[in-house]
Amino acid sequence: MTGAATDAQRRPAAVQRTAVVTGASSGIGAATARSLAGEGYHVVLAARRTDRIEELADEIGGTAYTLDVTDEAAVAEFAGWLDRADVLVNNAGGALGSEPVADGDSDEWRRMYEVNVLGVLHVTRALLPKLTAGGDGTVLIVSSTAGLATYEGGGGYAAAKSAAHAIAGTLRLELCGAPVRVIEIAPGMVRTAEFALNRFHGDHAAASRVYAGVAEPLTADDIADTIAWSVTRPSHVNIDLLVVRPRAQAAQHKVHRT
Ligand code: NDP
Repeated sequence: MTGAATDAQRRPAAVQRTAVVTGASSGIGAATARSLAGEGYHVVLAARRTDRIEELADEIGGTAYTLDVTDEAAVAEFAGWLDRADVLVNNAGGALGSEPVADGDSDEWRRMYEVNVLGVLHVTRALLPKLTAGGDGTVLIVSSTAGLATYEGGGGYAAAKSAAHAIAGTLRLELCGAPVRVIEIAPGMVRTAEFALNRFHGDHAAASRVYAGVAEPLTADDIADTIAWSVTRPSHVNIDLLVVRPRAQAAQHKVHRT
């Protein structure tokens, strides 16, 4: 056998560590659930679509929990139900619309804020006591390069992901000295089945234009791999912020298309 044992593998089998992944019913969250199960974690898959998370939980030996992260009371109930939590991957989120700010849709902006920002607050706040009690916790936030740089038509999403970025930075300061790491992964262009489709309200042509001519956008597995790598570093190593883009995307506006 080659390679170093991961942090999870080094522990006695009796103490199987638990990783909670929100938005585990598709895309990056589903791929992350698979990767963390492969690293030896018991994965709790949380999302609204029960059938999907149950199927994946069966496949990877995890546990499915139907959860809307925007529902504060439901999240509190979830935290009470959970035996332990060592890793929390705040992945649930997404973009809605691409109108300029001048035509911004308040309802869509509110929904983006609720899932990408308040969702992170609800789940992180509710699980922090368990993440701390385990003596070696990790909070990971999947933000976006949209939280670090703006682009035309991205105002509402960039505002929400900027807030997610701010939460990660604030939490890391507040938890300094506590046995909990705070990691932020900021993906660039990732081709997942639903992200762009949701953004463009089911318009397949508009969704496929996002990736048009880009030889190799990132995949959900690429980000899952990055997440699994980050959380399996030794406990004293905190990957503060990782920006991950496809080679064809040098910056938010600089995408090579053939
Ligand atoms: P998907 O649309 O495939 O995944 C979004 C996930 O979030 C789904 O599993 C969905 O599950 C879940 N979700 C949405 N709303 C809620 C809610 N209220 N409560 C619980 N779960 C919810 O997109 P991706 O996998 O591409 O995106 C995952 C994350 O990565 C998001 O935060 C996204 O903003 C971010 N990201 C994506 C990029 C991309 O290019 N694809 C780039 C940068 C960041 P369900 O509907 O079953 O609840």
